[in-house]
Amino acid sequence: MSLSFDPNALELPHGHFIGGTYRPATDCMTLHRPSDGLGYAGLPIAGADLVDEAVCAAKSALKSSGWGSCQPRDRTRALHRWADLIEADAEHLAQLEAVASTRLISQLVAGDIAVTAEQIRFFAEMADKEGSDLVPTRGDQLGMIVSEPYGVVGAITPWNFPISMAGWKLGPALAAGNAVVLKPSEMTPFATLRMAELSVQAGIPAGVVNVVLGDGPTTGNALTGHPGIGKISFTGSTAAGAAIMENIARSGIKPMTLELGGKSPQLVFADADLTLAADCIARNILFNAGQACVAGSRVLVDARVAEAFTAALADRLKPGRIGPTWDAATEYSPVISARQIARIESLVNAAISEGAEVVTGASRLDHPGYFYAPTLLTGVSQTNTAVTEEIFGPVLTLQTFTTEEEALTLADHPTYGLAAGIFTQDLSRAMRVMKRLEAGTIWINRYGRSRDHILPTGGYKSSGIGKDLGRDAYHANRRTKSVLIDL
Ligand code: NAD
Repeated sequence: MSLSFDPNALELPHGHFIGGTYRPATDCMTLHRPSDGLGYAGLPIAGADLVDEAVCAAKSALKSSGWGSCQPRDRTRALHRWADLIEADAEHLAQLEAVASTRLISQLVAGDIAVTAEQIRFFAEMADKEGSDLVPTRGDQLGMIVSEPYGVVGAITPWNFPISMAGWKLGPALAAGNAVVLKPSEMTPFATLRMAELSVQAGIPAGVVNVVLGDGPTTGNALTGHPGIGKISFTGSTAAGAAIMENIARSGIKPMTLELGGKSPQLVFADADLTLAADCIARNILFNAGQACVAGSRVLVDARVAEAFTAALADRLKPGRIGPTWDAATEYSPVISARQIARIESLVNAAISEGAEVVTGASRLDHPGYFYAPTLLTGVSQTNTAVTEEIFGPVLTLQTFTTEEEALTLADHPTYGLAAGIFTQDLSRAMRVMKRLEAGTIWINRYGRSRDHILPTGGYKSSGIGKDLGRDAYHANRRTKSVLIDL
């Protein structure tokens, strides 16, 4: 059966989800579908009073349900039931996601949604395995490191992978015994609302998962500055991360995990399997039209193979079938908004005026909605706009190097350090280069995430603080208390 659907017939959840029920609200913004640019829904913006209500609902749910202090296995069971319901509802969730975002209906059910359910299960299984420690002290003393949840975690997610990002935040925070107030991106709220509804159906106490809708300056700001929030877990741009740090510094210090932007290099050495490298690099930048934090947007290639490699890469930068996200035959995603496609255009034009040569792309695609051609730019210096800026679109730059040292110098970005790729068949080189690259994730002879949820993800430099996924994400949602007893 085809996954295609009629976006006009889709019923969208509406209102903030607080204390287990929808709170009717007046719309303040119009949302436009990236696939055709049409206005299709409205969005309310929660002010400080509503954010406060959500935090109070979370606190009172924690108190009345004992979610943070129950038998940990009870949380495990509830989270497994939630993952089951997410899987059972996958088609509906996928429609809510595809209508609003750039994610293709054909990729959501078996991709984002299946992986999110799997990640929730991964964290569910940590609830009764990770905890406090007895530590070595003098024999007549007992030392303990007592691990506790924070209470209410405030989470904020971006628009590029809304379901996955909600899972990354909710999975570890809930398994660790916290309640959550989550603000999804103002552009992609619907699947997150549905996930919250399903959490209640799964037996996670009402009020443990709350979703407030709104923008960054109003709702996000109220959330990060709320004194009742114990910890902030944020994914989004580096600029918004910096604004959040500033707000937290002003309104009251609290811990935060920040997963921010990237401008990741992919180093292709002359001894690499060049077909594999070209396939990986092209596939990665075509995926979600390059709108991924870890997009490997800066290709660095050994000058000796550069000509042939550039041609091989350009040949693979074909968009495939263009169409709306709700058509199962579509292969290439739109850009999220009119604003974002205009930004891509202006950055590419700036790069060209600074000397970049266009190998392919560098224009909009002739189709309703916001589609941008896969683009490859060469002849760029380290200060070219296309090299320095996170474009967040299907745009690659290609630079050449003659030595390993030069490759490392080019790879080193002044701002970002999220991920990097290395293509070589020389293991010693791969290890040497891996050690010197300043990035939180390194992929060797592959590029892109796998289903190994044990591997944490996060940035070096201004790409972030702390980690999502892995054990780190679970522990980031708990704090520790040191206890020493004289016996
Ligand atoms: P964005 O920073 O514009 O918005 C992200 C979220 O933050 C939204 O919910 C937004 O409403 C909110 N926000 C904005 N300003 C805020 C403020 N001052 N206070 C509180 N909340 C605020 O980012 P985006 O355009 O939605 O997403 C794209 C960005 O996200 C890219 O930079 C991308 O690299 C990054 N990203 C990073 C990761 C990662 O794991 N490192 C993953 C996905 C996306």
